[in-house]
Amino acid sequence: RARETDATRKQNPSTTQEDTIFSKILRKEVPADIIYEDEMVRPLLNRSTLSFTYHFDVLFETQCMAFHDVSPVAPTHFLVIPRNPIPMLSASTDRDTQLLGHLLVVARNLAEKENLSDGYRIVINNGRDGAQSVYHLHVHVIGGRQLSWPPG
Ligand code: IMP
Repeated sequence: RARETDATRKQNPSTTQEDTIFSKILRKEVPADIIYEDEMVRPLLNRSTLSFTYHFDVLFETQCMAFHDVSPVAPTHFLVIPRNPIPMLSASTDRDTQLLGHLLVVARNLAEKENLSDGYRIVINNGRDGAQSVYHLHVHVIGGRQLSWPPG
């Protein structure tokens, strides 16, 4: 089959396979310059007021990962992705409200860490007309130079 390039993939939204390159990065099967991962576990202290006993619960909180884009369009360009392979923003549901907010909070915190104090742009390409090429939801964080508007 014809070799897929970024350009052809952008024109071919049927490339909606579940196991994208980002799933492989999440499983550490493909190397990436990872800059953030949610902590694996977060212990929660629970208190039972009736029996006056205390115990620990563990909440599994591995919602997202961030890594540098392999083809940066600016001096700083990284992606924040959920572990859940939601193909695109329009495929998310109201149940993803907390997750979608979390992606933006992580993007903001990492932008600060990456010294983007003069500003940056957050982009989510959605579907064919949005020029999405990898069908695993991702938030682009782009900065480190003066960006122009409108985008192409
Ligand atoms: P989209 O066009 O919004 O879907 O963005 C996909 C992004 O993923 C593009 O900016 C690509 O450069 C980036 N990308 C594709 N493969 C990899 C990879 O293996 N590592 C890091 N970034 C990648």
